Amino acid sequence: MTSLQEESLYFKLQPFIRSKKQVDEHSNRFDSKKNAEIAKNTEKDRKCERCNTKYRVEMDSNGVPKPLDENNLCKFHSGWIKYRIDGERYYSCCKEDPDFGPYDPCTTDTYHISEYPGFFNKESEIVSSATSSGSNKAVYALDCEMCVTVNGYECCRVTVVDEEYEVVYESLVKPDDMIIDYKTQFSGITKETMENGPSKSLKEVQDDLLELIKEDTILMGHSINNDLKSLKLRHDMLVDTVIVFPHPNSYKRNSLRWLAEDELGRIIQQGNGHDSAEDARTCMSLMRKKVGLHKDF
Ligand SMILES: [Zn+2]
Ligand SMILES: [Zn+2]
Repeated sequence: MTSLQEESLYFKLQPFIRSKKQVDEHSNRFDSKKNAEIAKNTEKDRKCERCNTKYRVEMDSNGVPKPLDENNLCKFHSGWIKYRIDGERYYSCCKEDPDFGPYDPCTTDTYHISEYPGFFNKESEIVSSATSSGSNKAVYALDCEMCVTVNGYECCRVTVVDEEYEVVYESLVKPDDMIIDYKTQFSGITKETMENGPSKSLKEVQDDLLELIKEDTILMGHSINNDLKSLKLRHDMLVDTVIVFPHPNSYKRNSLRWLAEDELGRIIQQGNGHDSAEDARTCMSLMRKKVGLHKDF
């Protein structure tokens, strides 16, 4: 090992590398409630994660899920609960106070949404970097934006940046299943973005990614296992900023937004939805700083 190699990010990250199994195990502690919910869901019988209604997925003759009827729509708040300076709580969507009511939530939709356990287990769709021939001792940060299809959360955009913060890969991903919620407020992606493209199928994106990601490539991200799950991509040299920067309460995780501010003095996720390139660069920047190779982006 030459001293030049020892100064490389690839070398310095070695103590932080975890296998897929280790990252999954770490992540499970945060998701035990969610996992229990998912276990109660089946392919047909599900519980909506927006309105808690139990429902059955009804397909029409073309195999497309039927929308709900007008009297039984999914009713929910599209935003999240925020706090005013005086401690009062309100929904970011409609400014209503969650501690008063009852009143009808501000948003309705013609579909309920949920994950179900069979979804991520379509073995035939999962690809692995272990089967991708060649070597690439590079470090990449990866981030996906998610939308909701009838099958649950799926990747709709993926961005990969290298250690110099250059975007080395980015694509819109068109899920095979029907999209019922673009999650525009988080993903920044609208129906128009997806339709005007250019977008690729998940299979095409997996092929592209495996050109870049080899068995010896270091991949980093914030809850990187969620991104890899949505890409149906298996990889074992992972750096997860959730693990590297633990929350003082071991059953909570730091948000990337908070880490950016606390560790880097950067305000991120300010615009319309998340920017997957910004999130990926933030992870890269956090790890560069952690190992003494700080560089602004
Ligand atoms: Zn609302
Ligand atoms: Zn619902």
